[in-house]
Amino acid sequence: MPIQREPWAEPYKIKMVEPITMTTRQQREAALKEAGYNTFLLHSDDVYIDLLTDSGTSAMSDRQWAGMMLGDEAYAGSRNFYHLEEAVQKYYGYKHLIPTHQGRGAENLISRILIKPGDVVPGNMYFTTTRAHQELAGGSFADIIVDEAHDAKSTFPFKGNVDLKKLQALIDKHGAKKIPYVSIATTVNMAGGQPISLQNLKDLRALTKKHGIRIIHDMTRVAENAYMIKQLEKGQENRNVADIVLEICSLTDGATMSAKKDALVNIGGFLATNEWDVFEEARNQVVLYEGLHTYGGLAGRDMEAMAIGIGESVGEDHIRARVGQVLYLGNKLIEAGIPIVLPIGTHGVFLDAKAFLPHVPQTAYPAQALAAELYLDSGVRTMERGVVSAGRNKETGEDYMPELELVRLTVPRRVYTQAHMDVVAASVLRVYENHKNITGLKMVYEPKYLRFFQARFEKI
Ligand SMILES: *Cc1c(COP(=O)(O)O)cnc(C)c1O
Repeated sequence: MPIQREPWAEPYKIKMVEPITMTTRQQREAALKEAGYNTFLLHSDDVYIDLLTDSGTSAMSDRQWAGMMLGDEAYAGSRNFYHLEEAVQKYYGYKHLIPTHQGRGAENLISRILIKPGDVVPGNMYFTTTRAHQELAGGSFADIIVDEAHDAKSTFPFKGNVDLKKLQALIDKHGAKKIPYVSIATTVNMAGGQPISLQNLKDLRALTKKHGIRIIHDMTRVAENAYMIKQLEKGQENRNVADIVLEICSLTDGATMSAKKDALVNIGGFLATNEWDVFEEARNQVVLYEGLHTYGGLAGRDMEAMAIGIGESVGEDHIRARVGQVLYLGNKLIEAGIPIVLPIGTHGVFLDAKAFLPHVPQTAYPAQALAAELYLDSGVRTMERGVVSAGRNKETGEDYMPELELVRLTVPRRVYTQAHMDVVAASVLRVYENHKNITGLKMVYEPKYLRFFQARFEKI
């Protein structure tokens, strides 16, 4: 990981501000209890610096806001849809576009269309909503990411890579017909925001082609992945990020996008495909779940902002500052000796809760407890990515026990300054110095699906 020591500044100036609340420890104690020690259940009014997620929390540019005023709110054939279609074709190279209200809307469609009961869907680590839709469609997810991805201490630069031997073994075991597609995320959120290399993707393309298996691209953070390829992969250092993005997409057959991340909008997503048959079926089904195929649950103005955001997301200055801010925070924590997932991810810094709280067993939700403690200390809101997020095996009913038990400090795009990052780092340090006094939690309410969103806890 290149450590950025040269001073740099955000490539924008601030034209509008949103005041944020400062709270007392007493207020935070009450708010946390009320929220069942789940940071998802806090009111945002009680949060100081919100690093819960980078999803839909970006600041739009003045150009995107201007685009909002150009919304064509026609029910059918809105001109903003055609702008979005043009942007997807130009920057990502996919042929056909189906807008959806957000990423999971697209995941629902592609899962329903391509997965049959009993199918296996291999992927470079699971993502919560992606796997949930694969399972709802009757498929089961199989992890084929490289082993390094499950090791918080490994500094392998491309922890998002696929282990082709694992994929080959699945093909040998189940047969290619049982594998409708390989699900490839750029970057891998659950591994800590880790990139896949271009070479690995090319090798994967060759193997899947041989067996007639599609690659469906979870392209939520593709520009961030492309930036890391430019930084770290031999022979790629002189290319434009936009170029690399296009090449990544060209190695896949279709994509689901949560535009709430890379694409710098507060809501939106899409399904894209190069296959006419898949497009036809998606166009047919989208009217049941999202809306007509030229708006997919979005207002015209949302599609316009997304079209503009896609173009901004692959800009060199933008992406360097975006990832640079995350590296800034990560490097501060490394220098202070805080255990974090290495290399530093592109959208956030992931605290290694097992190393942070070695005295709390995984059954007592150490990452959940740590996220709660950070909030209590400073009002900084983070998210658990460990045993609570992993959920239960649908056959055995047992908790998945992931190797990685993490707290994610996710950085929204263009929202906070480096001074905010300094405050966050100071709070993590304070909590670390006091880590021996932090106890685990027990779950007292567990929802059926994606339990991390609404589960409630009590202190042990
Ligand atoms: C956020 C996200 C999704 C789901 O998208 P939503 O817009 O939240 O529905 C899918 N995959 C990855 C990697 C994500 O980060």
